[in-house]
Amino acid sequence: MLRKRIFILNDSNLQQIIHPSLLKRKIIHFDLDAFFAAVEIRDNPRLKGQPLIIGGMPNERGVVATASYEARKFGIHSAMSSAQAKKLCPQAIFLKPRFDAYSSASAEVFKILTNYCSIIEPMSLDEAYLDVTNISHQTSATKIAENIRHEIFLKTKLTASAGIAPNKMIAKIASDLNKPNGFAVIKPQFCFPFMQTLPLKKVPFIGPVTSRKFASHNLFTCSDVFRIGKNYIIENFGPNAEWVYDKACGIDESEVITTHVRKSYGEEETFIKDIINYSDKINMLKKMVASLSEYLLKKNISFKTVTIKIKYSNFTVKTKSKSFPLYFFEKNILEKISLQLLEEMNCEKVPLRLMGVSVSNVINKKDLQQETLFGDYI
Ligand SMILES: [Mg+2]
Repeated sequence: MLRKRIFILNDSNLQQIIHPSLLKRKIIHFDLDAFFAAVEIRDNPRLKGQPLIIGGMPNERGVVATASYEARKFGIHSAMSSAQAKKLCPQAIFLKPRFDAYSSASAEVFKILTNYCSIIEPMSLDEAYLDVTNISHQTSATKIAENIRHEIFLKTKLTASAGIAPNKMIAKIASDLNKPNGFAVIKPQFCFPFMQTLPLKKVPFIGPVTSRKFASHNLFTCSDVFRIGKNYIIENFGPNAEWVYDKACGIDESEVITTHVRKSYGEEETFIKDIINYSDKINMLKKMVASLSEYLLKKNISFKTVTIKIKYSNFTVKTKSKSFPLYFFEKNILEKISLQLLEEMNCEKVPLRLMGVSVSNVINKKDLQQETLFGDYI
C-alpha cells in the first residue's frame, strides 16, 4: 500500500516523488493523422484542402469513418452519422472507404516501424505502441520518434503524430496533443502534473460510464480525483475503482504486447459430397454463420471484416472479403454480408467441395468502449 503513496503535500504546492513505474520504460505511441482521408488526398491531390468524409454516403444509413481536418472544423467526427455530417457541412465530399489502399499504406508504415524496434503493439491500421526502452540508450526516444516520422513521410507521403512518455496511457494522450504532424514528450517528472491538467474523459481506459459516475460526485478532472483521495474513491465506488485513482495520477503499468493471440475466427467445412444446389449452399452457409456467431457472442468478440472462402471440385480456392469502418457483432448482419459475398462469387451452379466463413479485424467488446472513446480525439 505504501508504494502507491507517491505524492506529498508541501504548503499549498504539490511536490511529487516520481512513481518507480515511470522510470522503467520509454514508450512511443504513433498515430497517423486522419488516416483514411490522408490516403485519399495523397492519391488524389485535388481533394486537398476540402472537407472530406470517408465512410457511408449521407443518403444511406452509414457513419463517418474518418473526416479530414477541414471537415472537422464543422464539428464532424468519426462515428457520427453521415446524414448528420452532411447537415453540418453540405459541401463536404463523401467517399466510400478503399480498405485495400489503407491496408497497403498501413503495411508500409509497419514495415518502417519494425526496422527501428521489435517491441511493437499494433492497435489498428494506423496506430501502434513501441517500447524503445532498450534501444534508446544511444539515441533518445524523441530522436527515434522523429526519425520514424520523417521516414514515414518520406516513403508514404503520410504524416504521423507521436507521443513519447514513460507509459502507454500517457504516450497515447501525448500523441494527440500536437496533431496533426506533431509530437509531444512527457518526461517522468512531468507525468503527474500533466495528468492533473486533464478532464477524466480524456484519459484512455476511463470510459463515459465511469466519467459520468465520477461526475455525479463532482469529480470531473484527474486533479479532483487526486485531491479527494484514494480512500474516498474506494468507499464510494468500491475497491475495483482504485485503478481510476492510479490512472488519474499517471500510473499505467501495462506492457507493450507484441503478439495478439487471435487475428481471426472462422468455420469451414469440407463436404463428403460436392454441393451443387444453390439453396443447399445458402443453407450450409447460414448454419456456419449461426455456429460462428454463437461462439463470437460467447467470447464477446466484435469484428470489422467478413471473409467467405470456397473451394471448387478441382481444388481451386477463392475468397472474398468485405470490411466496415466500425466493429459489429450482430448475427443478422453477419449473415446478410456472408450471403451477399457468396452471391458475388458467382458460384450458383459450380460444385463446391468446401465452404468457410471467417471474421477478422477483431476486438474484445471490453476494449471496444476504449476504441469508441479514442475515436473522439483521433
Ligand atoms: Mg489516426
